[in-house]
Amino acid sequence: MRLYDCHAHLADPRLADTLEDHLAAAAAAGVAGILATAARLGEWDRIEALSQRPGLHGALGLHPFFIDQATPEIDLAGDLQRRLAANPRLVAVGEVGLDFYHGRDNAERQRAVLAAQLTVARALDRPVVVHNRRSWNEFFGLLREMGIASLRGLCHCFNGSREVARQVLDLGLMVSFCGPLTYPRSTHVRAAAAYVPLDRILTETDCPDLPPEPCRGGLSLPWHVRYVVEALAAIKGLTPTAVAEQVEANYHDVLGLPRP
Ligand SMILES: [Zn+2]
Repeated sequence: MRLYDCHAHLADPRLADTLEDHLAAAAAAGVAGILATAARLGEWDRIEALSQRPGLHGALGLHPFFIDQATPEIDLAGDLQRRLAANPRLVAVGEVGLDFYHGRDNAERQRAVLAAQLTVARALDRPVVVHNRRSWNEFFGLLREMGIASLRGLCHCFNGSREVARQVLDLGLMVSFCGPLTYPRSTHVRAAAAYVPLDRILTETDCPDLPPEPCRGGLSLPWHVRYVVEALAAIKGLTPTAVAEQVEANYHDVLGLPRP
C-alpha cells in the first residue's frame, strides 16, 4: 500500500533536528509522496531544497496567519512566480487562504494577499493548496470577483459542511482530510468525508500539527497518514488498499504529475 501526504510542513522548525528520521520512517511505512508545504516566507528556501528529493515535491505560499511578512518592500507575487517557474518540482501554490478565526480586522489585507497568490497560480497553471477557516463565503465571493469559476487544487484539513463541500467540488477542487478525521468527536468531518466522492479525496497529516487519534499528544508525522487512510476506509466501506490506490491517482492528478 503506497501512501501520500499532500500537506506536510517539513520546513517547520519543530522538525529541523529530526527530519531525516521522520522521512526514513515515512518511507518505511510506505509513504511514496509528500507535498512539503510552506506557511512562512522563511521556509521557501528549505522547501525548494527538499523538493529536489525523490518522492518529495514543494508548494510555496504565504499562509493567512503570516501576511504581515508581505511588506511593501518585498515582491511577494513576483518572487513566487519566479521561483515556481524556475523549479518544476515546486508544483503548487500554498498554503494560502482566508482565516478569520482570530477576527476580521485584517480581512481586506488577507483577501489582497490571497488574490495576488491566486493570480500567480493561474498564470502558471499550478494547483493551489487552500487553507480556509470561518471564511468560506468570503473565499467563494473573492473567486467570483476575480472571475474564477474553476480552480485546480485542494482544500487542506477540510472540516466544512456538506454544503461547503458541494461548492468546493463544483469549483473543481479536491478535498483533503487529516488527523481530525480520526477524532471521536469529529462527526461532522466524517460526514463530509462520507459525502465527498473518493475520486476527489486526498490524505494529509498537516505535520507537525494535528496528529491522528492514536498519536495525540505528540507531533504529527508523515507516516501517520495511514491512520487517515484507515479512517476513510471505514467511512467508505472499502479496504485501506482500495482507498490508498484511489488517493494515489488523485494525488498525481491534482499536482499535475504522471500517475505511477
Ligand atoms: Zn498547514
